[in-house]
Amino acid sequence: MTSRLNRLAVALLATALATLGVTVANPSPASAAMTICYNTSQAGNYAGTASQAASIWNNATVNLTLTANCGSNLRIYQITGGGSYAVRTSLGNGRVYIDTQQAAQYSPLRIMTHEIGHILGLPDNYNGNCSLLMSGGSAGTSCTNPYPSTAEANRVSNLFAGTFAATERSTDRAGADIFRDSWPSMLTSVS
Ligand SMILES: [Zn+2]
Repeated sequence: MTSRLNRLAVALLATALATLGVTVANPSPASAAMTICYNTSQAGNYAGTASQAASIWNNATVNLTLTANCGSNLRIYQITGGGSYAVRTSLGNGRVYIDTQQAAQYSPLRIMTHEIGHILGLPDNYNGNCSLLMSGGSAGTSCTNPYPSTAEANRVSNLFAGTFAATERSTDRAGADIFRDSWPSMLTSVS
């Protein structure tokens, strides 16, 4: 809000000075990218996977930048058992848990980018379509696609641009959104 007012003030000043024959350089761009600092100190074997996932999201979107270990908007944890899941406390903030047992069956990178997708505002879409990231485990273990679709990436960009309703940004709601994911076990028992 402050920067918006500042830009408005600069714009008004520029207009005023222009009438006096003075030119002023353009103020800073309308929306600076939000930096999401992710912390891999407890990511165990998946710290590198988190970096790959961050690059994928950074390449696919605008208005946000995931940066390693500059803070802890997003903490990545390695766990064993119980399933991978994400806890979004607000848009761009939360925790991601990667279950080593699921990551032994499904692509760890796909799990990582999917769970980070929740932190970036996306819901699950379990329709079995491997071209979607948020279809998660519904696309089966053979699906290793770690990339968001254009629609998924654009939705994230739009959320961070603030073009969606405030209620959808969930920054002012009490509590956290927990995405306890279904990456179904593909272990079969022979009876
Ligand atoms: Zn999910």
